[in-house]
Amino acid sequence: MTRQLAMVIDLNKCIGCQTCTLACKSQWTDRKGREFMYWNHVETRPGQGYPKGWEEAGGGWDGDVLKPGRLPRLREDYGIPASFNYEQALFHENAPALKSEQPMQWGPNWDEDQGAGEYPNGYFFYLPRLCNHCTNPACRAACPRQAIYKREEDGIVLVDQERCRGYRYCVAACPYKKIYFNPLAGKAEKCIFCYPRVEKGVPQACAFQCVGRARHVAFRDDREGAIWKLVEEWKVALPLKAGFGTQPNVFYVPPLSPPTFDAEGKPTQVPRIPDAYLEGLFGPAVHEVLARLNAEIARKQAGQTSPLLDMLIAFRHGNMFRLDRLGEKGNAA
Ligand code: SF4
Ligand code: SF4
Repeated sequence: MTRQLAMVIDLNKCIGCQTCTLACKSQWTDRKGREFMYWNHVETRPGQGYPKGWEEAGGGWDGDVLKPGRLPRLREDYGIPASFNYEQALFHENAPALKSEQPMQWGPNWDEDQGAGEYPNGYFFYLPRLCNHCTNPACRAACPRQAIYKREEDGIVLVDQERCRGYRYCVAACPYKKIYFNPLAGKAEKCIFCYPRVEKGVPQACAFQCVGRARHVAFRDDREGAIWKLVEEWKVALPLKAGFGTQPNVFYVPPLSPPTFDAEGKPTQVPRIPDAYLEGLFGPAVHEVLARLNAEIARKQAGQTSPLLDMLIAFRHGNMFRLDRLGEKGNAA
């Protein structure tokens, strides 16, 4: 049986600093052919994300049948990476800062902090995204070369670069659009969940470098780990867009928000981020989760203890990661 390494990201702690994005970019995709690849990125919600409009690009499962999906377009959806003319921009007035002739149309973090809502009730939050190392990966099912596989020991989804012929069916099939085509190599490439680090007991770069202490990593069947406690026991972490049917293994603690103000400027009981919007991302269970989080906060404010909040606060960075059990048998059975 495949064991599964998983991640929980607490959206109440993500500050959108993109440290995770750069930790990943500088480690894995800082090469030609990978300029537009962000194996991890952080997008502002509500927003169109990266690639632009990925939620409507299709893919995933309809029962046990793959749904059709489309390939993101290089210019319109990823945006051609900008080439900046630093000399001109810094020292010559009115000189164009971009070298490329055509204006950029999109890019990662393009709609940063735009959000939605009218003053004084505007709102936004950050949503870090990476490959979900799905239990039922659409990318793997779509590959006619069987080039995509899940590792038995940790469930990490990888592309066998020898077998891949660059057909890009996987890119269309992934509903999260988290597998990319490298035009120089002619191969599909994706997040490898930092498996060379994981094998040495070192957490993923995005998780380890997270300044917000927002990311927990453990095996799903490790009952002492944060994933079991947050997903199965306390039930406060949910998958993104579970309706896509791929059974993601990245989970999110949904964001709480301050109250809206009424016409007289008085706070109401209605949270700033509309419930319906969160339900669209995390499903109907999000309401219970938010109620549970609020109840725990009230307990803590009343001077009681809350092991759940203590885990989410993450007083000790090292306690957020449980990789040392790699290779051991699970204890869920
Ligand atoms: Fe495949 Fe996409 Fe799931 Fe990653 S998120 S395993 S690329 S289907
Ligand atoms: Fe959010 Fe952490 Fe990434 Fe910063 S490093 S954007 S806090 S997930």
